[in-house]
This record gives sequence, structure tokens and C-alpha cells, in this order.
Amino acid sequence: MARPVVAAVDIGGTRVKSALVDERGAELVSQTTRTPSGLSERGALVATVADAVAALRSQAPGDTQLAAVGVVVPGLVDDAAGVARYASNLGWRDVQVVVPLEHSLHLPVALGHDVRAGLLAESRWGAARTAQHALFMPLGTGIAGALLLDGHVVSADGWSGELGHVVVEPGGAQCPCGQRGCLEMVASASAVEHAYAARSGEGVGADVVAARVAAGEPAAQEVWARAVDALARALVMTVTLTGVDLVLVGGGLSRSGELLLAPLREAVDTAMTFQRRPRIITAALGDRAGCLGSACLAWDLA
Ligand SMILES: [Zn+2]
Repeated sequence: MARPVVAAVDIGGTRVKSALVDERGAELVSQTTRTPSGLSERGALVATVADAVAALRSQAPGDTQLAAVGVVVPGLVDDAAGVARYASNLGWRDVQVVVPLEHSLHLPVALGHDVRAGLLAESRWGAARTAQHALFMPLGTGIAGALLLDGHVVSADGWSGELGHVVVEPGGAQCPCGQRGCLEMVASASAVEHAYAARSGEGVGADVVAARVAAGEPAAQEVWARAVDALARALVMTVTLTGVDLVLVGGGLSRSGELLLAPLREAVDTAMTFQRRPRIITAALGDRAGCLGSACLAWDLA
């Protein structure tokens, strides 16, 4: 009998990652391509997914059979309606994804949000396997958040989890969202790079800033401390409001490991009084979380 697999597609700002994934989360075939430009044009998003699925199908091992397709995208996503509502950096608005893909692929198709699906994958195959409550917080170009509460990933019609736009420095830097002092403007990898460049006059990546923090460079340490402080404030708010007892830090900045996590734990611990202290650890699935998350969504349909 043919072995069932699902096709998982993660449409990101710069890359499209896709894979054939079995029911235990193993990737049998995986591929990464550059995100095409013009995804805001009519039909472009659906065509990109269809192309990725066709390429996966052509490489599928002979004993496998495609059972379903999962797609994740950034921005505002209406999972239930199968509609990608809005992504500021990719430019689409209200794109029907599920209906046209099911029509052309003749397979069940699920649509989800990249970060919420990433948390689903962490809860099934990663660092949140035993968790009932968790916050997944990827720190990259921006900052996103996804909540697992009482065993369920929270969506709230796609509006939940905008952790990057919690204000941590009132009156601070102008954020493209219209507010000032958003967490994303202080503690994302890009914010760390900008702040360091402003102090040192040197444009380097966040990983280089991290190395200089470890080496004891004052300018780097100042930028880092400010980011840690902002993250701690956002975490204390989140834990106080939701009661999550596990925080999974992901994204590019999480590669700095204990250099970030140790002072973050300390700052959170110092700020808290009665709250249950969360465990703060690195997410397990790295940049595969979104793709594996779309596989989870597909398996739930298969
Ligand atoms: Zn903002």
C-alpha cells in the first residue's frame, strides 16, 4: 500500500520552503526557492503554491501518495475561511487560497499562519511537546507571537499574537504600524542591527553584534541590554495575561542562545512577583517550523 505523505508549503518574505512530510514529521523531500516578486498580483500566490506542489510531486518517492496540502503565509490569515487577508511586506489583500487550490489539485488543502502553525509543529514534534500553554516568539526581521493555551493554538480570527506591536517604550521610535515604541522597533534582529549601527557607525548583522556582546564591547552590550529589557517587559505582560509557563524563543536572534536567554530569564524573574515563572528556552525546529507547521495542518485534514 502506498505510504501517505503531505505537501507542506511555507511562503515567506524572501523564501518559499516546501517539503513532503510523513505523519511523524520527517521531511522526505524538501526544497527552497526565492519568493517570486509580484505576489500581490491576481492568481500569483495560488500559482506559487501550485508550482511548489508540482515540483514536490515530481520528486516524490514511488511508494508515496499525496494525501493533503498545507500552506502557511505571514500576515493576517483567516484559517477557517481559507483566505490570506493581508501581508504588509508581500502586498496581497483578501486572496482566496484554499478553494482554487482544492479545485486545481484535487486534494484537501489547509491554510494557516506561519507563526501559529510553527507553534503547532513545536507542540507536535518540537520543544513544546509536553506543553499545554506556551508562547512562541520568533525574533527576526520582525517579532511575532503565537499562543498555545489549554492545548489549543489561539487564532482569534487571525488577530491574536501581534507581540511585535506591544508598546514597550512609549513615545519611542516610530513603527510602520503607526504606533511608537513597539517591541519590534527595539528587540527584533533588525532593530538590534539599526541601534548598533547608530551607536558605532558600523552596519553589521545581529550575529556579529551578539559576538561583540560576548566579547564585552560596551556599545553592543548597551544595545543588547535594551533589547533584553524590552523583551522582558513584553514577556511579563504576556505571562501575566495568559498564564503561559513555557516561552519558546525562535528566529535569527535565538541563535545567540544563552547570551540572550540568560539575561532575559533574569530580567523576567526580577520583574515578576506572584506570577508563575515560565521556562524560557530556544525553539527546536528553527527555520523549518513554518513548513512543518503547514504539514501539521495538512495532516489534520488527511
Ligand atoms: Zn508597531
